[in-house]
Amino acid sequence: MIQVENLTKSFGNNPVLKGVDLSVADGEIFVIIGPSGQGKSTLLRIIDTLEVPTSGDVRIKNESLYTHGDGNHHKMRRKIGMVFQNPAIFQGTVFDNVAYGLRYRKISSSEMHERVSQTLREVGLEGYEKRDAHSLSGGEKQRIAFARTMVTRPEIILLDEPTSNVDPITTEKIEEIIRYTRKTYNTTMIMNTHDMLQGQRMGDRIGVMMNGRIVQSGTPKEVFTLPANGDVARFIGYDN
Ligand code: ATP
Ligand code: MG
Repeated sequence: MIQVENLTKSFGNNPVLKGVDLSVADGEIFVIIGPSGQGKSTLLRIIDTLEVPTSGDVRIKNESLYTHGDGNHHKMRRKIGMVFQNPAIFQGTVFDNVAYGLRYRKISSSEMHERVSQTLREVGLEGYEKRDAHSLSGGEKQRIAFARTMVTRPEIILLDEPTSNVDPITTEKIEEIIRYTRKTYNTTMIMNTHDMLQGQRMGDRIGVMMNGRIVQSGTPKEVFTLPANGDVARFIGYDN
């Protein structure tokens, strides 16, 4: 379970998050939608400990990320993985790129090879180990980025617009990988997207982020048929 409590974040004197409250259950896929520049990526970056909040806290299975100092933070960091909009692929083979996720884990080389192969199978790139990572298509690169995160078996995966730069076929494949991961590993996920239909397809619940807060959360049906206020209604294109 992920609990975000009264989280705020300012950059200089620009308040971006103004008190975000959010609770995501184990194995739940929670989708965040909202206009550009509202802090959706900032929120995921704070949960991923890439950014420190101005105030408030994030709790993972009731353990605080931000009030007990660094020790806890590092231990908990291992439970979390993140996939970004643009896959970070570095020079080397596909194996190198996926095994990178395991670099700090104390596991044997044979186990590492096994885990990488299994994960490549899971993302539909079986046998790609020796390929030069830079020779892959954009969609394949994004699946490699997924594999790098999945190979660590995180309890939580944060997805920041994971399909905004790929074609519809790859989008479908990535959505399948997300569903598979949740079903197989009961992974808890928060996904940002600008694609409202994707939000409705994928979200157990959807949260609408506006003016620095989650102004509404509910099932896709609730959000898309009963928008909480005029701003949400306009944003989702609700007309009635
Ligand atoms: P989009 O839908 O376009 O991805 P978003 O909701 O993810 O937008 P963020 O990327 O979280 O929005 O950015 C929220 C605001 O915070 C923006 O105004 C952005 O310029 C600002 N911001 C984000 N990171 C920083 C930073 N490191 N330094 C200064 N300002 C930042
Ligand atoms: Mg963003």
